[in-house]
Amino acid sequence: MRGIHWFRNDLRLEDNRSLALMLNRVEEWAAVFVLDPSLVEPSCVSEKRARFLEDCLRHLDTKLSEMQIPFIVLRGRPENEIPRLMHRYSVSLLSYNESVTPFGRRRDGKVKRTVEKHGRQILSARDDVIFSAEEIRSSKGTPYAVYTPYRNTWWRRFDEKGLSRHTRVDRRRSIPGVECPEWDGISPRDGTSGNVSLPLGGEREARCRLDRFLNEDVRFYGRDRDRPDLDATSRLSPYLRFGCISIRACFADATAAVRAEPSLRNGVEKWLDELIWREFYSAVLEDNPRVLRENYRSEFDSLAWRNSASEFEAWCTGQTGFPLVDAGMRQLLETGWMHNRVRMVVASFLTKDLLIDWREGERFFFEHLIDGDPSSNNGGWQWAASTGTDAQPYFRIFNPTKQGERWDPNGDYVRRWVPELRNWSSSSVHAPPHSERSLRDYPEPIVDHSERRVEALDSFRRAREAWRDSS
Ligand SMILES: Cc1cc2nc3c(=O)[nH]c(=O)nc-3n(C[C@H](O)[C@H](O)[C@H](O)COP(=O)(O)OP(=O)(O)OC[C@H]3O[C@@H](n4cnc5c(N)ncnc54)[C@H](O)[C@@H]3O)c2cc1C
Repeated sequence: MRGIHWFRNDLRLEDNRSLALMLNRVEEWAAVFVLDPSLVEPSCVSEKRARFLEDCLRHLDTKLSEMQIPFIVLRGRPENEIPRLMHRYSVSLLSYNESVTPFGRRRDGKVKRTVEKHGRQILSARDDVIFSAEEIRSSKGTPYAVYTPYRNTWWRRFDEKGLSRHTRVDRRRSIPGVECPEWDGISPRDGTSGNVSLPLGGEREARCRLDRFLNEDVRFYGRDRDRPDLDATSRLSPYLRFGCISIRACFADATAAVRAEPSLRNGVEKWLDELIWREFYSAVLEDNPRVLRENYRSEFDSLAWRNSASEFEAWCTGQTGFPLVDAGMRQLLETGWMHNRVRMVVASFLTKDLLIDWREGERFFFEHLIDGDPSSNNGGWQWAASTGTDAQPYFRIFNPTKQGERWDPNGDYVRRWVPELRNWSSSSVHAPPHSERSLRDYPEPIVDHSERRVEALDSFRRAREAWRDSS
């Protein structure tokens, strides 16, 4: 039998679930990636993300060609390209790893219907998480709406021994005569990533980062992970997003690191908890596809967003006059990544201080983040906007200046990303005096945080009262 593996957000060979299952059933195989215009057009994805994806594809291409396995990169709609390819090379089995986004489900449904209509088979598996939504339920069998009990059940179900890791693809059994047309890449586009040093894509780089993190930074992860001025987190998010490393590998290696060095326990446990947040948000989206459009909690549905275009523009370009917010937005624009603490602060600023609909911020993040992921991004935004599962209570509003003073105590992060403030002393870098701002060409704060805080509280309170009255 002949098989084709359709790579999507699983750009690796090791511990790839549906690929491993397919390889047990076929004698000959090839691999394909489809550059779907609705995913790779410049209007849908930033140049930085496109470059990272391209890098991942080139690495995969190299690895597969070392094993003489054809890797076909096509441009077009998967529902047209995949069945055509299967027909052309008499392939009877298609494997892919499942997606939980509404877009992915629709796309896969179309491909599945066409493939099966022609008497060929599909083999799909869930690969991007350890547990799918239906595997982690409350004692009543219902989905969790709060992280901590979800996490507790998650850990109760977790069995380290079940982490199958060794499904290396080392068999050279390619379908003969497959043509792999040259593909011209996805970037360059608008040149915005020209001189920026971006993370290298691919499986090998992901593995190096995981090893380095577990050997070095994880020890202090619990203490330092909220400090944007330190490089204290794993920076694995783009690799997990594109599946350059498996989630099982992260858990297996991290738990092995604790066995070898028990003093790492605290850091490793904190880190694994973050990975469980990822699983939690994936489960929330799987159970509630509507969250991509609507508030998870309807109590703020009638909230009157202010949605000022000029304030949104200042936020997007890092010109709000709040140094931590501007540093974060400029880091995002320049590198396609932002530290988690700063994501929380800029998202709170947008939704509370500026009263701009979280969907605007979510869209902007998704466009610019290399790790832009529908479920984690939505979860993070709904958390910050107080509309989500475990949301930040609406009355707890981050003060962006105090957040800066607390988490970037020497101002190194702000100075790095906001060059106007580069020569500023630590004591005032998070609240530069008004007299100095114009001298250094740095904007005045676009809003008065205390005033906007009161207004936001009032708007959220009124929305909730309206909801209570109507229900
Ligand atoms: C408004 C907002 C939007 C976000 N958008 C995204 C997004 O589009 N894609 C994305 O991967 N993460 C998103 N996050 C979560 C988090 O900010 C990033 O995962 C993290 O900063 C990535 O850096 P790291 O790999 O060094 O993380 P580490 O601290 O090393 O954590 C390890 C991994 O755990 C996962 N993780 C960590 N924190 C979270 C979290 N709060 N929610 C879900 N998963 C988490 C990520 O996969 C991360 O790579 C968002 C958070 C907020 C507040």
